[in-house]
Amino acid sequence: MKSPKISEGKCKELKNRLDEYIRTCGKRIHYSEVRYVMLRVVCDMEQQPFTTKQLAEAAEREHISRSTVYNVIQFFVKARILQVVNRDTTREHAMYEVLVGKSSHIELKCIRCGRHQRLAIKPIMNVIKEHKFYNFEMHRFSLYIYGECRSCRSNKRLE
Ligand SMILES: [Zn+2]
Repeated sequence: MKSPKISEGKCKELKNRLDEYIRTCGKRIHYSEVRYVMLRVVCDMEQQPFTTKQLAEAAEREHISRSTVYNVIQFFVKARILQVVNRDTTREHAMYEVLVGKSSHIELKCIRCGRHQRLAIKPIMNVIKEHKFYNFEMHRFSLYIYGECRSCRSNKRLE
């Protein structure tokens, strides 16, 4: 699911999360301006999710080296600013997306390899969104659908 650029409001929410995370780390990490520059780059990405390579290219315009990009990505994952979208891939092609708390989504999860994929299935999402829960006001939802992905199923046939 491709979503448009991160809004100003969401970017501010992410900056607060970064401030908070750095504060909780205390003296274990030193202050570095580059993380804030990278947060701006992440928020300005034309599409979400993006690959490490795409992020590195965008960061290059800010004169940020590739190795710094890799480090900051790991830092952002710990700080819950980014989340990895596809796990089983090379470093350059790993995909990340901004973790903003308020989006509802449907996710397919492979029980064999753990691969997962986010989908926006409008008819299903609308049914859940319009449902009136008794004594409960829904803010958002996550729906996980478990099964086996195509490559796991074809591997099984070969066994
Ligand atoms: Zn699988």
